[in-house]
Amino acid sequence: MSGVSESGLCPACDSEECTVYRDCKPFNRVSLECLECGFFTYTQVAFNDLAYLNSVREDSDLPPLTTLKELTDDTTTEIISAWVASP
Ligand SMILES: [Zn+2]
Repeated sequence: MSGVSESGLCPACDSEECTVYRDCKPFNRVSLECLECGFFTYTQVAFNDLAYLNSVREDSDLPPLTTLKELTDDTTTEIISAWVASP
């Protein structure tokens, strides 16, 4: 386990019985779980589709893409794909 777990303040009920977990491997993500009211949040792992991505690019004054950039590293692709399949 490469991450760090710490206590935090629940944004929903102000309880201090809230666990915050941060990890940077294989990529940055954070989760939070309140042990009193049940509130939780986590990093969602997915890929945007081309249409949505191009709408965001347009808002950022970037030219539209015709295809999504291919993932080039086999190990990274395998790790990322596992997270997308089962977050
Ligand atoms: Zn709470």
